[in-house]
Amino acid sequence: MRKLPRILVVEDEPAIAELIAVNLRHNGFQPIWVADGEAAQRELEGVLPDAILLDWMLPGHSGIVLARRWRADPRTQAVPILMVTARGDEREKVAGLDAGADDYITKPFSTQELLARIRSVLRRRAPQPVSESVAIGALLLDAATHRVTHQTRALKLGPTEYKLLHYLMTHAERVHSRGQLLDKVWGDHVYIEERTVDVHVKRLREALGDAAPMVETVRGAGYRLTAQPA
Ligand code: CA
Repeated sequence: MRKLPRILVVEDEPAIAELIAVNLRHNGFQPIWVADGEAAQRELEGVLPDAILLDWMLPGHSGIVLARRWRADPRTQAVPILMVTARGDEREKVAGLDAGADDYITKPFSTQELLARIRSVLRRRAPQPVSESVAIGALLLDAATHRVTHQTRALKLGPTEYKLLHYLMTHAERVHSRGQLLDKVWGDHVYIEERTVDVHVKRLREALGDAAPMVETVRGAGYRLTAQPA
């Protein structure tokens, strides 16, 4: 018998949870509903789900806190998280992604949209790339330890900024459009606006400090990481 993908639904509103569970069940998924972070944690300590559908607003710990915790835990690190937000607020979406969510969906959403997003995060759960170090100029990224240093000074990067820098460093000196970066760094994130890329490039530059000029804006084209900034 084919194993149905298990989806852990963390949602405190029974009516919404019920609707989601019914739709998932009818479409070949195995939903497991829990109403708060504590119950979710107990579930995760048992059988790991294939993905987590995580409501932002929950009693007790918020979805953001939970996403961050599960991303930091080696056991749950690789489980895709689809964050459910009540508002389509850009800052909220970015905060969700920064906390480690793989994608977000805004309430109210259609069944088709929910299914598309879940299939998308499941598809994207690819094996981690082979650990390697990349050095561009005085900038060094160690993929094994997720450490980034510039002139031996350790830099503090958020998860998205790290992924973005990793991509730019492994494809240095080339110009990448916002669309290409979304595709390569965020995966098939068709629902993210291109402006999100600008937000993360800005944060990446802040984190890079003295090395910030290495990330160049190429007007009308996109971004490039270069060893020799103009
Ligand atoms: Ca809620």
